[in-house]
Amino acid sequence: MKHLLNEATQLLYLEGIDGSYIKEVEVNVVGYESGGYILDKTMMHYEGGGQPGDKGYLLTAEKKATVFNVKKKGSKVLHLSTDGNMSGRAKLVVNWERRYKIMKMHTLQHAISAFIFKEGSMTMKSEVFPGSGFIEVDRPLRKIPEGAYSIATEKRNVSRRFIDRKDLNPETLKRCNLEKLPKSVDRISIVEIEGMDICACAGTHLRNTGEIGEYWIRNTGRIIEFGLI
Ligand SMILES: [Zn+2]
Repeated sequence: MKHLLNEATQLLYLEGIDGSYIKEVEVNVVGYESGGYILDKTMMHYEGGGQPGDKGYLLTAEKKATVFNVKKKGSKVLHLSTDGNMSGRAKLVVNWERRYKIMKMHTLQHAISAFIFKEGSMTMKSEVFPGSGFIEVDRPLRKIPEGAYSIATEKRNVSRRFIDRKDLNPETLKRCNLEKLPKSVDRISIVEIEGMDICACAGTHLRNTGEIGEYWIRNTGRIIEFGLI
């Protein structure tokens, strides 16, 4: 499964649900431009879709270059680093502690959005950070649905699969804002929390909601805040 989403860089985190768990990988440094390294492949998520860019470093026997963010420019995935002297083979290492928190938050966001949807409120926008996040809804909720408090204890499996855009079923995916999908993407990543939620998403997620651990949710009207304890 190479070059998903028409990227010039192979996005390893999109390969099944296990792709999100890759902590380090051998890569080829293809180039350096606009302050960022271009690699043949990466497990680092680039900023976008309500999820921050990853941090980490590139390592060779002689050098270490810090990656302070990952951004996309055109079709290029740039691993931003102030040190542009690296080339050839290198090891790419993600800041796993930070990234794992983002995966917990992103999986939690999907599930909370699903419960909110059942109460009649659509998720218009969501953003997650390492340990906190928010969901903006189209109309305020009277209260957080009970089920939203037992997402982790339910220990639901999470999976990812790809389907052709022409085979998308808007009825199954009505919880998601499908209009946000970039027109250029013709293979769509579908993330499913067994029996709880199904949504199109190209972010990184957990294998099981049990990994989320303890969390809190706060209803402030149009904004639902949530975070890890
Ligand atoms: Zn997601």
